[in-house]
Amino acid sequence: MDNIEKRLICPICLDYCKQAVECYKCINLFCKNCADSLTDKKCALCRESTEFHISNFARRAINELPVQCDYCSTSSTIGNLEAHLEKCKKKTITCQICDLKLTKSGFLDHISSNHLDKALHKAEIFNHILANKSIKTTESLNGALNGIHSIDTKINSKNKKKARLGETGKYYCGEQLDDFCSCCDGFCGTQSGCNCSGCMDLDIRFRLLPKGWLVNRDGFAARKSLQNGIIYCGRKNMIGVPGCDGYCGPNCGPNCSACQKLDEQVKRRYSKLV
Ligand SMILES: [Zn+2]
Ligand SMILES: [Zn+2]
Ligand SMILES: [Zn+2]
Ligand SMILES: [Zn+2]
Ligand SMILES: [Zn+2]
Ligand SMILES: [Zn+2]
Ligand SMILES: [Zn+2]
Ligand SMILES: [Zn+2]
Repeated sequence: MDNIEKRLICPICLDYCKQAVECYKCINLFCKNCADSLTDKKCALCRESTEFHISNFARRAINELPVQCDYCSTSSTIGNLEAHLEKCKKKTITCQICDLKLTKSGFLDHISSNHLDKALHKAEIFNHILANKSIKTTESLNGALNGIHSIDTKINSKNKKKARLGETGKYYCGEQLDDFCSCCDGFCGTQSGCNCSGCMDLDIRFRLLPKGWLVNRDGFAARKSLQNGIIYCGRKNMIGVPGCDGYCGPNCGPNCSACQKLDEQVKRRYSKLV
């Protein structure tokens, strides 16, 4: 690996930078998510309080790097790998209930014939499916489980508007949010971000989440820890955060930025839902 390639590796997760950003002070590159996870915006390398700016140069360079598909050995580039994995016939998914490795086409059959009851009540499996880019939405799981295909529009029972699944797998109606949101433009969706309380209600009901669960703005099911009352989604998206084992919770420690927003919002917007 030459020096330029080494520079494209994120010093926090030690992988090529995803959505590369650079430290304004030392010009080192990080993943956007890894940089976002730094406390007080202190750079992990130069230790200065800093800003992180998008590096289009690094993003292009990384996208052009050659990679092989882990499953079928087809040659691709980092930029094209995701599109390849969507179609890759050999790609496997690990069943979170029994640890069996299955192809994407076999996965839904496997769930519906072996763990139908569990899948419908296990929030983690929805998280897993959403985390796994090959099955984009809970809708596709539900469709396969019930033999009903892609009824992706639901009616928001609060404002009676049509809501659709966005990229996060959450429902969005595009209407104004119930209250001010420190992270959004004030509207529900339409592809990502926070949703209104009526659409959150759809998220909960549609995913058959147990009482007390919500879905955070990244599309991950989350709930209050019984230990400290903080909301956690249990994702491993906090690598490099001081004092954290890399996971958001699930019972203690710091929570991810999406769950931090839920901590604020559950007091007002979603208070009736938990
Ligand atoms: Zn990183
Ligand atoms: Zn720096
Ligand atoms: Zn492949
Ligand atoms: Zn299984
Ligand atoms: Zn909405
Ligand atoms: Zn928001
Ligand atoms: Zn979280
Ligand atoms: Zn942790």
